[in-house]
Amino acid sequence: MRMINIGNTGMAVTELCHGTLILGKLQADLTPEEGAVAIRKSYEMGVNFYDTAQSYQVYPHLALGLKGVPRDKLVIASKSHAHSYEGMKMAVEECLRTLSLEQIGIFHLHQVQSVDDLRSRKGALDCLLEFKKRGVIGAIGASSHTVAGTQAVNNESAIDVVFPVLNSKGLGIIDGNLQDMLEALKESKAKGKFVYAMKPLGGGHLYKEIEEAFDFLRQLPTCDAIACGMKDEAEVEMNVSIFNDERVSEELRGRVHAVARRLVIYDRCIACGLCIDECDQGALSMGESKVVVDDSKCILCGYCAAVCPEYVIRVV
Ligand code: SF4
Ligand code: SF4
Repeated sequence: MRMINIGNTGMAVTELCHGTLILGKLQADLTPEEGAVAIRKSYEMGVNFYDTAQSYQVYPHLALGLKGVPRDKLVIASKSHAHSYEGMKMAVEECLRTLSLEQIGIFHLHQVQSVDDLRSRKGALDCLLEFKKRGVIGAIGASSHTVAGTQAVNNESAIDVVFPVLNSKGLGIIDGNLQDMLEALKESKAKGKFVYAMKPLGGGHLYKEIEEAFDFLRQLPTCDAIACGMKDEAEVEMNVSIFNDERVSEELRGRVHAVARRLVIYDRCIACGLCIDECDQGALSMGESKVVVDDSKCILCGYCAAVCPEYVIRVV
């Protein structure tokens, strides 16, 4: 698999990054033992790049899947929504401790949406700079679902890595279209930042055209690597085959669960509305007795599930 250098950090990552959001409570809700199987498989198939986050609650899955793997063979990217210095310090220390790391490859400000949002995280960014100076973090990053957030990050020289929503249909970009995001990323590259894409399959909407969706991103000069959620061995095998430029056999395709995933809200919903405020895609609204989802807008990020006090939201 193609390896790509992260600027002059000395780190090189596989073009395919294993996204881990899908493993945890916000999506497939796998146990650490179940989730570890996919993680181990991707490592054995040559992947060295893993993307996770404090809020995904999947550090135990990763720790188990990568048990015994020398940490210098891996580049792990994590993130936190923390705004303050102290909050970010706790997030970084939790990641180091739970994943038995001495160094974290990339640590992101999670979901930067605008210039003001980035400014409000000065304490968190100062903390990451401090950790980077001490060699605890290899590179500082920021993830974003917006063009405005990506542009803000472009203007922050302390940030080395950009992790935007990016796919062939522009699905999940909150404040613009694909072209707008590509323009913003052209600037990211011009400023020397490493870019890897999230939601390459639009939260599952492009699953039926998976090769085309990956090909689109792999040919972009503005995209260095691609993070894709993989929850079982068959998904890992299929994605690794594609990134190794191998033909996907019909047998393997048949093993991959090709049914599109969707968001389900159970009848025990108490109509509190918290999830509606959380969804930045505008995919949720109040129905007659419970919240309803607009599948055409939902990117299956699972963030609404994290705020539901009744635990009645699931990606299935
Ligand atoms: S409804 Fe919104 S917050 Fe929930 S999974 Fe879909 S896009 Fe994400
Ligand atoms: S947060 Fe949960 S309980 Fe509240 S409206 Fe949304 S689905 Fe219903």
